[in-house]
Amino acid sequence: MSPAANPATGPEFAPGSVALVGGGPGAADLLTVRAMRLLRQADVVYFDRLAPTEDLAVWAPRARLEDVGKRPGHHKVPQSEINRMLVTSALAGLRVVRLKGGDPFVFGRGSEEAAACEHAGVPVTVVPGITSAVSVPAAAGIPVTARGISKSFTVVSGHDPLSEEELAGLAQLGRQGGTVVVLMGIGTLGHTAAGLMRHGLDARTPAGLVERGCTPQQRVCLAPIETILLASAVEGIASPAVLVIGEVVRLAPGADLPWSGLAGLTGLTTGVAGLTDLVDNA
Ligand code: SAH
Repeated sequence: MSPAANPATGPEFAPGSVALVGGGPGAADLLTVRAMRLLRQADVVYFDRLAPTEDLAVWAPRARLEDVGKRPGHHKVPQSEINRMLVTSALAGLRVVRLKGGDPFVFGRGSEEAAACEHAGVPVTVVPGITSAVSVPAAAGIPVTARGISKSFTVVSGHDPLSEEELAGLAQLGRQGGTVVVLMGIGTLGHTAAGLMRHGLDARTPAGLVERGCTPQQRVCLAPIETILLASAVEGIASPAVLVIGEVVRLAPGADLPWSGLAGLTGLTTGVAGLTDLVDNA
């Protein structure tokens, strides 16, 4: 952390330092004022595909812009290489912004980048961002908590299949009325849905998938957990999407759960699991 950092106003952006900046869920006006201030001063910006980038050349007019995110047909730059680029640029005396989707410390490997900088003696500061875990459900009208309905929410990564123990724990939280939010959960959707039901979550528990939330391309798919995989396959929901499970999903406008009519066809939930394997779960 930069010694000059003022908790109220944030850091001075010294040459030779790195700012890990949360870019929010994708809308330009959901970047923070602090993020904008640091971008304005940046000499180089390493950005991800989930951060808002459409006007990056305007927001960071002095900076060289480097795309280190995953693009279709291209390989993602390995994390170790990103860490190396941040450190090398800072040691060359540049003001370095690492612009990430959402909040840098929510499944964004921000802590690894911070550790790499600290290890190299490079001052690093973290600028929080609006995480998709809360803002993307909200953009679809789903509050992650609501008085009298849910007083907790649990955010998990679905990047790798959840273990039986994790599924059991989440099912229990869900049975107690807690909301479960899954990021990177498209590729493992069938496994998650089937596992939660196997561990006792009511098959009629409402679920929502919000694809590209907070952007003009936002799409919402609502269904009971027993048919959410089928619904998402039919509607072609793809990454990036946030999965929300819990009674709060009923508060979404139009949450008449159109896929409820298929109650009883739970076999389909697992039956189309193969389809989601085709979907990128970055
Ligand atoms: N640090 C990020 C999360 C990185 S993991 C944050 O705080 O939001 C990447 C996952 O975030 C995606 O697979 C998806 O589940 C979710 N995500 C990020 N932006 C999203 C968006 N605009 N719409 C839907 N999901 C999004």
